[in-house]
Amino acid sequence: MQPITTIAAASLLTASGACAYAALWPQSQLFGKVLVAPRRPRQVALTYDDGPNDIATERLLEVLARENVRATFFMIGSFVRQRPQIARAVAAAGHVIGNHTMTHPWLPWQSAARIHQELADCNAALEDTLGTAVRLFRPPHGARRPYVLRAARELNLTTVQWNIIVSDWKPTTPAELLNRLERGIGRNRRRGKASNIVLHDGGDQGLGQPRLPTVEATASLLQLCRSTSTEFVTPLDWLAATE
Ligand SMILES: [Zn+2]
Repeated sequence: MQPITTIAAASLLTASGACAYAALWPQSQLFGKVLVAPRRPRQVALTYDDGPNDIATERLLEVLARENVRATFFMIGSFVRQRPQIARAVAAAGHVIGNHTMTHPWLPWQSAARIHQELADCNAALEDTLGTAVRLFRPPHGARRPYVLRAARELNLTTVQWNIIVSDWKPTTPAELLNRLERGIGRNRRRGKASNIVLHDGGDQGLGQPRLPTVEATASLLQLCRSTSTEFVTPLDWLAATE
């Protein structure tokens, strides 16, 4: 019986490995279609999660305005309710704002009703504050299961993942972040892909998270890109191209 048990255990492990991959690997399409990045290697989408946040979000707006770059902000609904003026400033500057749930839970472990509520409540917070419809959704931690993507579709939201992540929520320096960003963009270009970068102007632990290294790294990246043929876009541009 031992070999059969081993085989059964091995296939169970493989199945759970595949599930973990589908639920957590940012570019996995196994649980449903998600938007990552098209084959346009000169394009870069800067996306910022977990805001709006005191100080960092507004500094970031200054940096982006200086270089005339449009970015995308996936906001947490409860923070939007607490800082509506920051969310409005982001929208007024012409950036795209997406849904990042109301309270940033790990969605795969939640009930279908809770998942739907998290997405719908964040949509309501954004639409009440901004007066415009929300088109994009990013699951917290990129984690999902089929129902998460279905709930998003039911609310007319396209789920957006990423292909560059640089751990900017951990203590680090702008120089180290810049280095990781450059390596990621270079790797995507060699593969013929656009870059979809996730950075963080806030943090799910609460308002006031220190994210100035992210702002400084963004400023340095934009300066570096001045002399290259980089085109900054948003996931909405990619969506428009496929519609
Ligand atoms: Zn997040």
